[in-house]
Amino acid sequence: MSGKPRSSRTKLQPSPPAATHALPSYLDQTNLGPWSTYLQQVDRVTPYLGDLARWVETLKRPKRALIVDVPIHLDNGEVAHFEGYRVQHNTSRGPGKGGVRFHQNVTLSEVMALAAWMSIKNAAVNVPYGGAKGGVRVDPRLLSQGELERLTRRYTSEIGIIIGPTKDIPAPDVNTNDQIMAWMMDTYSMNSGETSTGVVTGKPIDLGGSLGRRDATGRGVFTVASEAAQRIGLKIEGARIAVQGFGNVGGVAARLFAEAGSKVVAVQDHTGAVQRAAGLDVAALLAHVAVRGGVAGFKDAETLDPADFWAVACDIMIPAALEGQIDAKNARKIKARMVVEGANGPTTPEADDILGDRGVLVVPDVIANAGGVTVSYFEWVQDFSSFFWTESEINQRLVRIMTEAFAGVWNVAQRHKTSLRTATFIVACSRILQARAMRGLYP
Ligand code: GLU
Repeated sequence: MSGKPRSSRTKLQPSPPAATHALPSYLDQTNLGPWSTYLQQVDRVTPYLGDLARWVETLKRPKRALIVDVPIHLDNGEVAHFEGYRVQHNTSRGPGKGGVRFHQNVTLSEVMALAAWMSIKNAAVNVPYGGAKGGVRVDPRLLSQGELERLTRRYTSEIGIIIGPTKDIPAPDVNTNDQIMAWMMDTYSMNSGETSTGVVTGKPIDLGGSLGRRDATGRGVFTVASEAAQRIGLKIEGARIAVQGFGNVGGVAARLFAEAGSKVVAVQDHTGAVQRAAGLDVAALLAHVAVRGGVAGFKDAETLDPADFWAVACDIMIPAALEGQIDAKNARKIKARMVVEGANGPTTPEADDILGDRGVLVVPDVIANAGGVTVSYFEWVQDFSSFFWTESEINQRLVRIMTEAFAGVWNVAQRHKTSLRTATFIVACSRILQARAMRGLYP
């Protein structure tokens, strides 16, 4: 090659993409929300990635983002339109994997961040998946059961062009459950002409679901919290626990802590907050929530102003609700020795720094709440082999994976003197980018 332009056409081509380092133009640049948190986390890990850092741009944009219109007939005969998304952040290590949330505040940039955190989480516990996430911008509490089913089915049909048992496998997340997974599985199966159990996880047991899946995220939170507590000399027995969010993650984690002899001293959810210094009766609180839909009005407790929740005297704080809950303002109030993230993205980067400076250990989402997707992986493997494991086998395997993954992350944090979040990103991003580098670019 002479090094000269081969034709005049070459000269006319635009100079190579400034866009390579820019934010995707389809995002609202003024309101990036959790996506900006995620990007800052990637920037923090980049200096530790060595040669692999040359591929890091891959992590800063999703592989694929689908926006769909979800029109449904309401019970009153009107038609309503909802906005749905499915984002596949990365598939270098395997198919996309991650939940679907139904929430009135869902946005594309939020789903992008949640999909990216799935890539990191799946690589951190070394399950053979990339990362994906979906969502519909809807408050499901305002829908009847029939409307919810029609919404779920139409959404599934719309994203059906990119999901599949070896392409991208949805699961439950905020405000979605095993019934919704059953409708998703059925809709996908009807469209594809075969019963495809492996297209979603978190299904009912009778439809190819896995024992232990429902409790798995909370069990993982408890397991990782216990491992971390042991390393900082904190005893789980007698430890005071505060939990934000009392659903599938916070509720189960609280129950397991109580069973292990901890005192659950405060719980906050979307209905309010309650506290009891001697420890709440978690079983009674769960029963109350099952009937009343939230913790508000629970009799055997004092009412707590939700604004005071973060300042509660406790040893372990478990945010298990939504993103961005612990920010620069309330991070200074937290009295706990550890924050264990049951939710995805609950802590902003500024709050991370404040907690770190104050000596509060943050056990990040991407390892702490990975128990759910780990048992999702078991469910998917069981569906493929049509051979199902016992609950004790599942729980043992879950605890082993979580314990080993946490030990690996802990050692990396010690070696590099970083936060556990950056250490988890070091482990996970190295795995993803190694796969990326080995696969190379197509074409
Ligand atoms: N939604 C859960 C999470 O954020 C579980 C995802 C899955 O099982 O695929 O990790």
